Amino acid sequence: MCKPCESAKKAIHIVQGNVARIIKNEETEKLANQRRPICEGCPNKRNLIKINNKQQYYCYLCKCPIESKIRVKDELCPAPERKW
Ligand code: SF4
Repeated sequence: MCKPCESAKKAIHIVQGNVARIIKNEETEKLANQRRPICEGCPNKRNLIKINNKQQYYCYLCKCPIESKIRVKDELCPAPERKW
């Protein structure tokens, strides 16, 4: 995939993930609940910001907010060993 297409796909996924965080459904929450513990134990998880006193994190490898990323079905863990 070319760089501009990769950037566009990433932007779309971030929007999809952010929408899924607000408008929750059973499928995306199930997916997030499977992926979240893997990210929580990963050394690539980094502090982002606090929202309502709750720490938010991003993935150091792809720079995506984890709580958005884990809700997008087509997203992949960017680690070489593909943790999920
Ligand atoms: S997406 Fe993969 S590399 Fe990034 S924090 Fe989660 S498990 Fe780690």
